[in-house]
This record gives sequence, structure tokens and C-alpha cells, in this order.
Amino acid sequence: MGIATTNPATGRVERTFDALSGKEIDERLDRSAEAFAGLRRTGLDERARWMEAAAAILEREAEPVAAMLTTEMGKTIRAARAEALKCASACRFYAANAASFLADRPADAAAVGAERAFIRFLPIGPVLAVMPWNFPLWQVIRFAAPALMAGNTGLLKHASNVPQTALFLEDLFRRGGFPDGAFQALLVGSDRVEEIIRDRRVRGATLTGSEPAGRSVGSAAGSEVKPSVLELGGSDPFVVMPSADVPRAAETAATSRCLNNGQSCISAKRFIVHADVYDEFERRFVEHMSAQRVGDPMDESTDVGPLATERGRADVEEQVADAVAAGATVLCGGERPDRPGWFYPPTVLTGVTPGMRAFREEVFGPVASLFRVDGIDEAIALANATDFGLGSNAWTGDPAERERFANELEAGQVFLNGAVTSYPELPFGGVKNSGYGRELSEQGMHAFCNTKTVWEGA
Ligand code: NAP
Repeated sequence: MGIATTNPATGRVERTFDALSGKEIDERLDRSAEAFAGLRRTGLDERARWMEAAAAILEREAEPVAAMLTTEMGKTIRAARAEALKCASACRFYAANAASFLADRPADAAAVGAERAFIRFLPIGPVLAVMPWNFPLWQVIRFAAPALMAGNTGLLKHASNVPQTALFLEDLFRRGGFPDGAFQALLVGSDRVEEIIRDRRVRGATLTGSEPAGRSVGSAAGSEVKPSVLELGGSDPFVVMPSADVPRAAETAATSRCLNNGQSCISAKRFIVHADVYDEFERRFVEHMSAQRVGDPMDESTDVGPLATERGRADVEEQVADAVAAGATVLCGGERPDRPGWFYPPTVLTGVTPGMRAFREEVFGPVASLFRVDGIDEAIALANATDFGLGSNAWTGDPAERERFANELEAGQVFLNGAVTSYPELPFGGVKNSGYGRELSEQGMHAFCNTKTVWEGA
């Protein structure tokens, strides 16, 4: 299937779109470069007004927008509504904070023999954003809000299964007041990404998605000497120690694993539990996983809708089958329901070992692996026994253990007695094969800025 909306709850193709021709891509890149020449000269107050207006549209239209997300990629209507509102608040956050994030930073003029010296943050130009379908609004907004507020222009190559969301986002910023060309959706397949990155009008690239896509975008950007940010997959550990609040940890664990129908980069995926509390955690966790209501994502009472694509469900099924064939045990779930759509139930595995795909790979569906450990050293070693390093969770009442987890878990974020999530106020990103660079906070805004040194003599 090319560029199309296919409803994951029914398997029905709702709308198809033609990919842009080479000439149409060229025109859009021209428009982006022209828009940049104007946008960089607009005032921050003006850009903040447009960003606030975009936020107001998102709030006003949260219901139809949520229905569009649910139809395109199957997240529950409750999750879709929450995503639209979170995006609105991120737009407001950058509208309110851009002035301080971009303010000149005075330097020690005397130390560098200047009358005045300071650092100024300036936009770099058109930036290509290659984005995934799993949080089809949020992933884009967390790039676009800081980039546009900094005065860059944005080019969105969205995942091929969420074209309506891509077009909505282009329209959103235009309706907010941003000039024509400031933010454009490019309906193209992934085969056009490299040539767009290599185009001289494009000055940077960001990708949120899988590791292979990240390697491809990172290599193209690197060989063109263009800055890039990569937000890739994760296989986040969730460690539970004897002093933890086990009932709360077990409930949070199930919510985290089933977040977005199990398709979140920062869902906890590997549950590493101390032997002293293992049996209680396992019992409670399996109860919570089994209690998730799987069903029509448009139904307000549904917790887990379908997976976004048929291929995505097949991948999850193959990973579970591989684990079971090699000796893993299924404690709940593990069988697709007999109904149309790409549903897969919350599933808990034990006995997952390093040779299995479920151990090595990211499992992008509501499937959890449970491990028993005898102490904190073993817990940390197992948590770090992955090529990924996006988020990490650890539950303990012991301050010394918290310090160890904060220092020793190899991840871009550690949440202690909580589940990893993203906030506009906090940097977000990974280490190891989960990527590099940071989104959100001030750092996300500076990712595509020229940090310019200004030195003034007498
Ligand atoms: P994906 O297949 O990598 O697709 C992501 C985007 O990259 C899509 O726009 C896709 O276009 C494009 N793409 C695919 N292959 C490419 C290539 N070789 N060169 C250039 N672009 C390419 O990932 P997905 O299945 O949509 O999303 C799930 C993945 O994203 C998971 O691994 C998840 O963990 C990760 N993710 C990470 C974060 C984070 O912040 N770290 C957040 C959300 C998701 P087409 O759709 O046209 O193929």
C-alpha cells in the first residue's frame, strides 16, 4: 500500500493519496527556502501569536482531530484526545518560553579581550522531519513548535499510513498565521528521503522511527555535514526492588506496557523483578494485563485498540512464536482474537533468554517479558543488556538504590517510582542505538539553531 489511510480496526482502506512528483517536491523546497527568508525576520512576539493560535485550533478541534488519529492508526479515542490537548500545551509552552530559550547569553568579555561578547541563537533554515505514525501529532509538534518558534521552516515527511494527519498539520500552522511555506507536508515515500536530505536547500534533518530508518537518515545527513537528531526505538527496563510499592508498580507496569496499544517507544518492555517480591508482582501484573479491555478504539471504555498495521501485528506474532518455540512461557494473551482488524491481546512472557528475538529486539505491541533477579547488580546488568537506551524505570524506596539507578542505567531518562513519559519542560532522547540529540525543553529548541559567538571590540 502506498500513501493511504487504512483503518486498523477494520482493515478497510479509507483514502489513498498520490505521492508528490519530483517537480512538486522541488517547488515545495523552493517555497520552504523562500519562507525561511521571511520567517527569520519576523519577531518572536509575532511567531508566539501564531503558535498560540495553532494551540487554540488544536483545543477547539480536539474531537474531530482525535477521530482522525484513531481512524488512521488505531489508538483509542481517549488517547487520541489526550494527544491533541498535549500538543496544544506544547505549542503554548514554546510560545511562552521561546524568548528566554533564545535570549542572548552574555560571556565574560574581559576574559576574551572584548568590549562585549555574547552567544546568540539563530535559525538555520529548512529542516526535514521524518516522522512515525505512533504519536502522529505529538512527534511532529515536538519538533515543529520549537523549530518554528526559532525561525526555522519545517518539511514533514510523515509515515505513509497517516497522510490525513500530515495534511492537517500543514493546515494547522497556516491557519494559525504562519506564512505559506513555513511548514509543509511532503506526501512522499521513504525512498525520496535521502535525496531531500542531500538537497542544498535543506539544512538539517530529524527522524523519529526505527533504528534502520535512523541509520539511513543519520548517514545521509552526516555525509552532507548537516545536523541531525535521531529518536529511535527502545526496550525500556522496569526494575522492581523489594522496598517498592509493589501494587502500584504492577498497575503502572501494565499501563505503561499497553500505552498506545503497546506501540510506544518509551513503554516499559522488560520487567526485572527482585526475587523477594517477584511472585506478588507477577500475580498482580498478569491480573492487570488480563483486565485491559481490548476492542473498538472509538469506544470510550476501550483500553487497547488494534495494532496500526497488519505487518506490525505479524512482527509481534513472530517474536512471540520465536520465544515460545525456544522455551518461553505465555502467562496471558499470546493469541490474536477472532475478529476483523489487527488486534493483539496484552501478553506476558516468562523464560525469555538472550537468544530470543523478544530479548534482543524491540517488541512493538502489548507484550511484556518478566525476569527474576537476586539483587541490584544483576538487575542493572540485565537492564543494560540491550543495544537500546531510550528510557528506564526503577521502583525502590531506598535512596541509595535510587542513586545507583540514576547513575548506572544506560538510558536517556530514568523515572524512579513512576513510568517514563515526555514533558515539554524536560529533554527527551536516547543513548546507544536509541539515537542522539535531544528534543523538547530548551535543548530541543537549540538542536536546530546556529549557536553563534558574537565578539565586539572597541
Ligand atoms: P519506521 O518504519 O522507521 O518509520 C518512521 C518514518 O521513517 C516513516 O516516515 C517512514 O516512512 C520513514 N522511513 C522508513 N524507512 C526509512 C528509510 N530507510 N529512510 C528514510 N526514511 C524511512 O518506524 P515506524 O514503524 O513508523 O515507527 C515505530 C518506530 O519508531 C519504533 O521503533 C519506535 O520505537 C520508534 N519511535 C521512537 C520514538 C522516540 O522518541 N525515540 C518515538 C516514537 C516512535 P514510510 O512510512 O513511508 O515507510
